[in-house]
Amino acid sequence: LEIVDTLYYDIMDLRGDGFSQDCFIMSKGHGYLAQLSVLESLGILDPVHLDWYCTPDGLLGAHPDRGIPGIEAATGSLGHGLGIGLGIAIAVRNVHKIRGSLKCPSVYVLLSDGELQEGSTWEAILMASSLQVQNLTAIVDNNDYQSLGRTSETHPTLYPLEEKFEAFGWKVTSIDGHSREQLTESCRAQANIHPRAIIAKTVKGKGVSFMEDVALWHYRSPTAEEYAKAVRELEAKK
Ligand SMILES: [Mg+2]
Repeated sequence: LEIVDTLYYDIMDLRGDGFSQDCFIMSKGHGYLAQLSVLESLGILDPVHLDWYCTPDGLLGAHPDRGIPGIEAATGSLGHGLGIGLGIAIAVRNVHKIRGSLKCPSVYVLLSDGELQEGSTWEAILMASSLQVQNLTAIVDNNDYQSLGRTSETHPTLYPLEEKFEAFGWKVTSIDGHSREQLTESCRAQANIHPRAIIAKTVKGKGVSFMEDVALWHYRSPTAEEYAKAVRELEAKK
């Protein structure tokens, strides 16, 4: 949530049309409730849709879909978002050159660490650096969890992530994924010809004591009592 909120409020430029705006792709589609809440707070998504979340007559399913205001890609079948983001980054770069506009739009893709087990992701990582797509930023939500367990236990050789991206020709920084300042600084740092990867160390369920770093909450919905307790804890931290 901190990553998405910081991108929309502090980093991305949403002025202009689809070829001049910065773009965000939630590749870890199961996390798009965070994006919905930010889109609602920005007035891009009508709050009435949130009341119908995951109901047969509602607009919002469990994963992002085209047709939802502010959503650029259907994702959540993992491994697709970075390739889509790469294509958009190339398209807007080409339009930027044709128009001669001052600023080339940037594309930001949020990936999960578990998602890095998808081979298509690595095809996009390879292609982005080969084509010197410097207006593309991949942010890895590195919470060391995938659906049912630790990512580092499923694939210990996935780590360290930084060296993998660097070997593929990306400019890499590592940050505390809950720090707005560190994310903003990393997104603004010069990457020259390279696509940029930000390895964001996060804690799943951060800010709610009984959810922090507990895999159960990948799937479970809170009871009314748990929800109230979570809200109280988060409000106390404001
Ligand atoms: Mg994860």
